[in-house]
Amino acid sequence: MVERKQILLRYRRELDMFVKLIGPVRTLLCTVDGPHGQRTMYPRAFHYHRAGSLKEAAAMHVQLGEGAKLLAGGQSLIPLMKLRFANPAHLVDLNFISGISYIKEENGTLRFGALTRHAEIEASTAAAKIPILHDCAAGIADVQVRNRGTIGGSLAEADPSGDWAAVLSTLSTEVHCVGATGERTVVLGDFIKDAYTTALTPDEIVSEVVVKTPPKGSGGAFLAFKRSAPVYPTASAAVQLTMDNDVCKDAAIALGCVGLTAIKATDAEAALRGRPLTGKTVASAMEAARVAADPQSDMRGSADYKRTLVGALVKRAIEIAIRRARGEQVEVGHVYA
Ligand SMILES: Cc1cc2nc3c(=O)[nH]c(=O)nc-3n(C[C@H](O)[C@H](O)[C@H](O)COP(=O)(O)OP(=O)(O)OC[C@H]3O[C@@H](n4cnc5c(N)ncnc54)[C@H](O)[C@@H]3O)c2cc1C
Repeated sequence: MVERKQILLRYRRELDMFVKLIGPVRTLLCTVDGPHGQRTMYPRAFHYHRAGSLKEAAAMHVQLGEGAKLLAGGQSLIPLMKLRFANPAHLVDLNFISGISYIKEENGTLRFGALTRHAEIEASTAAAKIPILHDCAAGIADVQVRNRGTIGGSLAEADPSGDWAAVLSTLSTEVHCVGATGERTVVLGDFIKDAYTTALTPDEIVSEVVVKTPPKGSGGAFLAFKRSAPVYPTASAAVQLTMDNDVCKDAAIALGCVGLTAIKATDAEAALRGRPLTGKTVASAMEAARVAADPQSDMRGSADYKRTLVGALVKRAIEIAIRRARGEQVEVGHVYA
């Protein structure tokens, strides 16, 4: 377990370094000159397949075996291929499947097709009714990444620094999966198992993400601390509250980038639930969040620095969530170093 953690953290650090040095990767088919004047790609050679439906993609994925990868927005996979950290022999492209990119309000839920881009969620008036979703979509990297990256790809990648997992875990969220032989629904809490590890079996694809609309009197906020737009946050906090006047009826708090997965700060939630939200209760939640964080020191900052950050982000997110629960329109943006 310790060895796996070290490998994952090394991989994360190298990816960070790549993003810092090379900047966002916009295209896969960049070519470089080979030693004999031939043109060659940065990634290893691969076979490209275009799926016509999710079931067909799932069947192809199984038939092509372990060397196959699904391609959604490519905003996690392509940088890894370009670095040759990922060397798939086959790519199964989901981008030409019709009807898997949508945002629908239905029976007290918001349904996102797996290929819905971050930018589509950012621009959606339906998604803006749950403001924490808009905060998340609008704050991911830069416009180029948001135009390509997808909600399904983000959850399937299960990057410890990915924003969607933290935000969606403060809401009642289900992940719908399609396989070559059937379908199933997994609650988000059971979907992400570890860093870069999900409950998906090799023949399964995320088809839809379903979020239950929070009850009346709810408000939420997602805040991240970032060094610049096109890098993952140093730390982030997602807070979703349901208020009854000044009393907090329910609270969900998740911390991002300070553990191998998004961390549910259950003691911080308990510090708020059933209590009037005074400076004292908010301070206890902030302290409980600091304790729940499990950060590693890296190029983004020391573990102590990240703990302090996460406490401050939780406090600010609670304050905004309270105002939004009262019906106030509050614009939020991430905090930049
Ligand atoms: C410069 C840069 C900065 C970024 N900053 C942030 C940030 O601040 N916050 C943040 O949250 N994200 C950030 N990202 C990541 C971005 O949000 C990606 O869009 C996301 O992580 C992956 O989505 P994708 O659609 O691009 O997936 P892809 O890269 O296409 O795929 C990722 C993985 O998931 C698998 N996969 C994709 N779709 C499915 C599916 N439907 N079912 C099953 N498996 C699937 C693929 O096979 C692959 O293994 C950044 C990316 C870049 C390049």
